[in-house]
Amino acid sequence: MVKKMSQIICKRVSVAGYLLSVFCFLFLCGCANPLHKDTFIIAGTYLEVISKDSRASQIVHEEFKRMEKIFNFYDKDSELSRLNNTYNAPVKVSSELIEVLKLSKQLNEMTDGAFDVSCGSLYNFWKEFIKKGNIKELPSKETINGILENCGMDKIKINTDLTVTIERKGLKVDLGAIAKGYMVDKAATALKNKGISSALINAGGDIYCLGTNNKNPWRVGIKNPSEIQGIIENEDLVDEAVTTSGNYEQFFDFEGRRYSHIIDPRTGFPVTSGVISVSVVSKNCTTADGLATAFFVDGIEGLNKFLSKYPSTMRIFMVTQEGKQKRVHIFR
Ligand code: AMP
Ligand code: MG
Repeated sequence: MVKKMSQIICKRVSVAGYLLSVFCFLFLCGCANPLHKDTFIIAGTYLEVISKDSRASQIVHEEFKRMEKIFNFYDKDSELSRLNNTYNAPVKVSSELIEVLKLSKQLNEMTDGAFDVSCGSLYNFWKEFIKKGNIKELPSKETINGILENCGMDKIKINTDLTVTIERKGLKVDLGAIAKGYMVDKAATALKNKGISSALINAGGDIYCLGTNNKNPWRVGIKNPSEIQGIIENEDLVDEAVTTSGNYEQFFDFEGRRYSHIIDPRTGFPVTSGVISVSVVSKNCTTADGLATAFFVDGIEGLNKFLSKYPSTMRIFMVTQEGKQKRVHIFR
């Protein structure tokens, strides 16, 4: 189906193996009107926009370009980097950055600290560690505890005058676990503001389905990471988002255990809970993005605890490794 579609779409960037790199497959059905599909590379990810309105991809792309200048951790000129290079001085920031920081604080509380955007220096330390490869031993607890001193959501102060103060020298805010979802939501709003009521936005697996696809829901397959072609379930989405967090791209194996690039901020060490991937379907891509990361950290037990405290309409798909077996847990 996807192959057939490519005959009637226009493509700006052809990315080999793209569909294999994301954890959700898209099935495009009921295509009476030709769909336009564009792919961009931005914000360190592939951005795909599908809509019968030819204006959609440009609008989404522009919105991503605007927001990348706010949230990019690695761009020294981004708003986030400007904030990260200060300490004990209020910094004027955009309402977008304030909104994401406020939601991040909320998610931090709701997940008992599993979701924590204040540990940028820790996450960066582990990314460099994974990149170096050839791992002979893990860093010592003392080293990690030293880095953890530069973390703490309570040290990010959101002031009433659209300023933010970082109250600890060396603390770096990393919004990598939530900003992509937020950008997708903002792009969907930008489309609605321009009168576009039907589109699918896919930013490297963070997906929002706006309206219907020619009167049918958008059909998104939640991929089973343990099988190349396997699908856990097909989800029919209308005005809903799906995001996935997993240890399939950045990880290292050490002494028979798989360590992910997602870190437990309470221990400072990579998650080894046996979770392979978590997909969250929700009305809101920002929350889905943040929670998928948090659920990855705390596994099945944490997820059950969360759901008993905060009953929700979200659908959650968690794949875990149990001995040699992989198990799919579905919550709906
Ligand atoms: P995601 O792919 O949405 O799960 O986000 C993963 C990214 O979020 C990582 O590459 C880190 O930059 C950052 N991160 C890692 N662990 C956490 C955590 N426990 N809470 C918040 N952000 C995290
Ligand atoms: Mg996330």
